[in-house]
Amino acid sequence: MAFEAAAYSALHTRRLELLKGSETLLVVPVEIQPPSSEKKAVLTVFPTTNCNLRCSYCYASSGSLKKELSLQQYQLILHDIVDPSRFSRMQLHLHGGGEPTLNPRLFQDIVHECATRCQTMFVAPSFTLTTNGTFGPLVRQIIADYRIRCSISWDGPDEIQHRQRPFASGENSHPVVLNNLRDLVSLQLLERVRVTVTSNNIDRLPEIIRFLHREGVTSVHIEPVSILGRQEEKSEEGITVDRYAHHFQQAYILCCQLGIALKGAGMLVFKRPSGRYCGAFGWNFVVTPWGEISACTRVQQQSDRHSESFLFGPWIAGADPMTFAAAQRKYLQQRRAENLTACAGCFLRHHCAGGCPMSIPGSYDKNLERTDDLPCDLIRACCRLVLAAVRQGHLPPGWVTLKGNS
Ligand code: SF4
Ligand code: SF4
Repeated sequence: MAFEAAAYSALHTRRLELLKGSETLLVVPVEIQPPSSEKKAVLTVFPTTNCNLRCSYCYASSGSLKKELSLQQYQLILHDIVDPSRFSRMQLHLHGGGEPTLNPRLFQDIVHECATRCQTMFVAPSFTLTTNGTFGPLVRQIIADYRIRCSISWDGPDEIQHRQRPFASGENSHPVVLNNLRDLVSLQLLERVRVTVTSNNIDRLPEIIRFLHREGVTSVHIEPVSILGRQEEKSEEGITVDRYAHHFQQAYILCCQLGIALKGAGMLVFKRPSGRYCGAFGWNFVVTPWGEISACTRVQQQSDRHSESFLFGPWIAGADPMTFAAAQRKYLQQRRAENLTACAGCFLRHHCAGGCPMSIPGSYDKNLERTDDLPCDLIRACCRLVLAAVRQGHLPPGWVTLKGNS
């Protein structure tokens, strides 16, 4: 069995004749969505670098820097982005790394401004949020009023959440996060729960997934704490690649059995083979708390790694979003699977397309090409074990197998 990108692409483009003569067992989505004729703009906004939690593994060291987006700067950007001649729909995504709901008034203003501007311009808005889940009643009301679909971070039972995601005061965040998680489920606005996997909770993933299933959660995203690889020997929280991949496979099988959609390294095999790793190499439009524009959600300032590639600089009022920073954008868009020599022989190249250059420090050069196998080890190990589970008949919700005609 193999996962053949060419044939898979053929399914997406409905050129089924490419399947004829293939002995390959294909895994395909039950429903192949036709491309939408309505164009959608996605605007990602980081309202703040500040955070009320002190997560033990936070990549952004949130909370140590307290920078908030100026509403005036945001309004300027919004004015130029919401353009009905280009887009009929607009998704505003409020991103964490810094907690976006920390200042409820700013959060409300950002959402309200977008809704109002879209209404004026006859553009249909939608809203999404990644949050640490510690918000209070005002934010809960805004989420309900604007139907904001939320991804919430929660690392597991009480003692684990307390150990990994405490409040800055040292208090346990678990009761408030669980309460908000339940509210979001009852509002039908919980999109996904993100679980960061460390040596504290890796053995408890089945328990965590079963608990979330009982709570009515239908989608779970698991990611290892960002210290896999060469740091694993040095860190008390290190997890070996083989151990992580084994637990990922077990989590995958359990999610298949429970009908939960799983997101994470091993699920790349189900990703449409676009040839690009993520939107940073397409049309990501990320507004930083400094009011600058970035292509990557992890690059907000000049001092961040790879800022020379991803950070486009301050927005210029009246600029055209399609041509803004055109040379930098073009350079990023050329990072496609077929142009990455280091990935040429990899079975995942069309799905992974070089991986995330922000994932493991020092494993990517200034051209965003990987320089060693560390990022690949984890992805490939997880994908191999997921494919082995597929071969045993475990399929995620919404997927079926097809046998080619030999
Ligand atoms: S390059 Fe990595 S961190 Fe940046 S947007 Fe893509 S996946 Fe996210
Ligand atoms: S797993 Fe590694 S070699 Fe394969 S496409 Fe991804 S980055 Fe390239």
